[in-house]
Amino acid sequence: MAFELPSLTYAYDALEPHIDARTMEIHHSKHHNGYTTNLNNAIADTPMDDQSIEEILKGLDMENKAVRNNGGGFYNHRLFWNIMSPNGGGTPDGALGSAIASAFGSFEDFKTAFAKAAATQFGSGWAWLCVHKNGSVDVCATANQDNPLMPGIGCGGTPILGIDVWEHAYYLNYQNRRPDYIEAFFNVIDWKKVEELYTLGV
Ligand code: MN
Repeated sequence: MAFELPSLTYAYDALEPHIDARTMEIHHSKHHNGYTTNLNNAIADTPMDDQSIEEILKGLDMENKAVRNNGGGFYNHRLFWNIMSPNGGGTPDGALGSAIASAFGSFEDFKTAFAKAAATQFGSGWAWLCVHKNGSVDVCATANQDNPLMPGIGCGGTPILGIDVWEHAYYLNYQNRRPDYIEAFFNVIDWKKVEELYTLGV
């Protein structure tokens, strides 16, 4: 069964001024669309054809570069669109807020750790907030389109928040100022959605 490019639940210009409309349009309709098409081509007529994207990534042969790059790209961007909102920002509460306070000391300390992981990921990649089976959370970064569901990658939990730090995610608006893009990202994080994913992942 072929994967489909997910529709956004908001307009391309909805995240402005934090993420500009042109970047969103190219990122979704070109980059994510490309990963989706290439993933479908890579899994056609293989046993992965019947699996969910989570099953594919968890059971991945890391030498299978076509599925590693494009399956990661499909999953990572789907999560990325899902955890952003024009009504985003603020801080998490409930069980996730408690887990973040427990792991990092405070929300501000979490923000510092997440921003540092995103800013110091050399070259292309992602920074993540992951949940583990015991409910604890941690932050890590991965290269290219890898993600923590893949065997032996990153912090090994289930990602519930991620930021794309490939240049295609920010260069039109921020050029080389990745830290400014990371700071702006906090204004569009949909913490209600991240809390839902935390609850599902525990
Ligand atoms: Mn991207």
